[in-house]
Amino acid sequence: MDNKKILVTSPLLPELDDFIPYLKEIWDSKWLTNNGHFHQELEKALAAYLKVPYISLFTNGTLPLIAALQAERITGEVITTPYSFVATTHSLWWNGIKPVFVDIDPITCNLDPTKIEAAITSRTTAIMPVHVYGQPCDTEAIQEIADKYGLKVIYDAAHAFGVNVNGKSILEAGDMSTLSFHATKVYNTIEGGALVMKDEKTKKRIDYIKNFGFSGETTIVAPGINAKMDEVRAAYGLLNLKQVDEAIAWRKQVADQYREALRGVEGITFFEDIEGVDHNYAYFPIFVDKEKFGMSRDELYYKMQEKNVFGRRYFYPLISTFSTYKSLPSAAPSNLPVATQKADQVICLPMYKDLGSESVTSVINAIIR
Ligand SMILES: *Cc1c(COP(=O)(O)O)cnc(C)c1O
Repeated sequence: MDNKKILVTSPLLPELDDFIPYLKEIWDSKWLTNNGHFHQELEKALAAYLKVPYISLFTNGTLPLIAALQAERITGEVITTPYSFVATTHSLWWNGIKPVFVDIDPITCNLDPTKIEAAITSRTTAIMPVHVYGQPCDTEAIQEIADKYGLKVIYDAAHAFGVNVNGKSILEAGDMSTLSFHATKVYNTIEGGALVMKDEKTKKRIDYIKNFGFSGETTIVAPGINAKMDEVRAAYGLLNLKQVDEAIAWRKQVADQYREALRGVEGITFFEDIEGVDHNYAYFPIFVDKEKFGMSRDELYYKMQEKNVFGRRYFYPLISTFSTYKSLPSAAPSNLPVATQKADQVICLPMYKDLGSESVTSVINAIIR
C-alpha cells in the first residue's frame, strides 16, 4: 500500500546553505530592491541561459502580461486562447481589452492559426497566444497573420522556460514574450516572472513601466506600476538557475517512464517529443477518451486520488466559462469545440525533480489498474 500522497508538483529549491551567504551580502549592503546587483546579475544570467537579447525581471508572471499590453498600447480586441491559466485573459481585462477566444489545435492544444483570421475585426489590435505545457505554438503561421493585418503578438510563455526550436529560443517569437517564475514552474524564484523583448528601447520602456513610470528622479514617462523583483528573490533565482538543467533532465526521465508505460494504453494519449525541440517537460498531461478507456476523466481523476495520486486538471474549466467572460460571444462552447473537449479529458500527472521512479510507478498503476 502506498500511503504517501504524490502531489502534482514540488518546488525546485536551492540548498539553504548556499543561500545564506547571498542573504548575508544583502543584509550587509542594505540594498533590498530597485535594480540591485543581484537583480542585474540575474537579468544577465537569464538572457544568456535563455539565449534572448533583452529581459526584464518582474515580481510575478502576471504583471509582465499587463505591462507588455501597456507598453504596446494595445486596445480594442485581442485574440487569445481559452485553454490556459486564467491570468492570460485577466491581463486583457485589466487593460480594458475585450478578449476574443479562438479554438485550439487538437494536436498541440495551442491557438489554432487556421481559425484566427475569421475572428479578426476592425477593432483587433493583437494576438496573445500561449505555448501551453511548453509546447511551441505555430509561431510562423501566427506571425504571417499578424503581419498581414498589422497586429502585435504577445506570447504568454509562462510554461516555455528554456524551450528552443532548432537551437533558437521560442521566446524570440512575436513582439514580446512573458515568463512566470512561480514556485510551481520549471524554474522558480518563489514568485517572479519576466518579459523578453527584442531591443534596448523596449527594455528601457518596460523597466520604466515596472517602476511606476520613473525615467529619472523626478520624471514620469508612463502610468507605470510597481512590478519589480527584489534582491532576495533575484539571489535565490541565481542559485536555482544553476540546477535547472539537472531538473529538466530529471523531468525528461519521468516523462520517458510515463510514456513507456502508457503507450498503447487504449484511450490514453499524451505528447511525444518533437524533433528539433528542446522540451522542458513542464507538465505531463494525459487525455482520457471516455469511450476507449472505459472511464471518464473525472472518474479516473478521483480513482487516482483514492490511491494517493493527486494530478491536476490543467486546464479545466476553460477560461471562457468563468463568470467574467462567459457572456462574450466568442466564449460560446460551440465556438470552442476542441478546447472544450481537451478541458474535459485532461489530467496533468505528477512531475518534478526528485520524483522517484517508485512514485512514478505508483502513478502509472493508479491509472492502468
Ligand atoms: C503561471 C502562469 C501565469 C501567471 O504567472 P504567475 O507568476 O503565477 O503570476 C500566466 N500564464 C500562464 C499560462 C501560467 O501558467
